[in-house]
Amino acid sequence: MDTGFHRTISLVEPRLAGNEARYLQECVETNFVSSVGPFVARFEAAIAECAGGGECVSTSSGTTGLHLALTAIGVGRDDLVIVPTYTFIASCNAISHCGATPWLFDISPESWTLDAGLVRATLAAETERGPHGAVHKASGRRVAAILPVYTLGCPAHMDELEEIAREFDVPLVADAAAALGATYKRRPLTRMGAKLSVLSFNGNKTVTTGGGGAIIGSDARLLGRVRHLAATARAGREYDHDDVGFNYRLSNLSAAVGLAQMERFAELATAKQRIRRTYDHAFCDLSDVSCFPAPAWAQHACWLSGILVRARMDRLMSELERAKIETRPFWKPMHLQAPYRGAPRTETKVADSVWQQVVILPSSSGLHEDDQARVIAAVQRVFA
Ligand SMILES: *Cc1c(COP(=O)(O)O)cnc(C)c1O
Repeated sequence: MDTGFHRTISLVEPRLAGNEARYLQECVETNFVSSVGPFVARFEAAIAECAGGGECVSTSSGTTGLHLALTAIGVGRDDLVIVPTYTFIASCNAISHCGATPWLFDISPESWTLDAGLVRATLAAETERGPHGAVHKASGRRVAAILPVYTLGCPAHMDELEEIAREFDVPLVADAAAALGATYKRRPLTRMGAKLSVLSFNGNKTVTTGGGGAIIGSDARLLGRVRHLAATARAGREYDHDDVGFNYRLSNLSAAVGLAQMERFAELATAKQRIRRTYDHAFCDLSDVSCFPAPAWAQHACWLSGILVRARMDRLMSELERAKIETRPFWKPMHLQAPYRGAPRTETKVADSVWQQVVILPSSSGLHEDDQARVIAAVQRVFA
């Protein structure tokens, strides 16, 4: 029963239950607080191992990681980059920071990720082969990359996208911000097909460094270039620089927190999967509610869980508020955002319908069973 004396159940909060404080103290005691320090390499090794091997270059955020990855793959001024309209705005901002333009595509209903069939059909109809890959016929712009987004930690249909990337000669970079631990057809992140994949360790992600990100991949030369560009493209020990680089490195302080988080990754990831399963099980039979997609090709990282609500949204919101349960809608598509309203796009039927129905429910990896039961009871009061 709701006694009225419950504390608020938060939507998602970090769980700093391991060596975080100890490692931070070590940074202070050793004076390694900036981008040089032992925790950076240790954190990168832990991420690479978790992502399936290859190389990892940590960055100051997911957004700067995306900017750097797109730059390293060759995205530049006046290019087009294919991206789903249903994403966090950072994906599109990183494209804009390269001087390029996002070309917004709809998502597929079974995964809420880039609709590969639509990408193939549109590239076939609207582009031609140029000297440096596909060129959009109407605008004369080069299509410089395809940037699938692993929505909520669910990988896109990568075999199809990889085939399209090969056929049209357009490189594939993944916004895998929330997908650490996910697999696609049992293949881990660095072997899903993207040349580079970008992670975020923002405070609300499953693994956090406070703020941070990483670029991972299996092409050692390309990752070497990424590392070079992340650190001002410095060519030697003196102030010699051979390119327009960035200052996008992660600090040793952030990496210290990240390493402590990675030591408990299995626990954090398992908690997220359990939260998702428990919600799915509780809500799958309710009318007017459906569960988030779970395509057969993916082991979903389940960053945030929730439901799709077809009716009674207002009642649900007031019931959850009364029960002191934090909820939130999710991404609003990019073609509805002020900076990207004019961006070129396909039709957006699926994204237009999905985003208005998504309700994120409490999903912290530290969410207590009793608290999740309280959330479930509140939702059931509205829909049962
Ligand atoms: C979290 C997230 C980002 C942004 O990462 P920051 O570290 O906050 O810059 C980018 N893309 C997606 C899909 C995300 O979920």
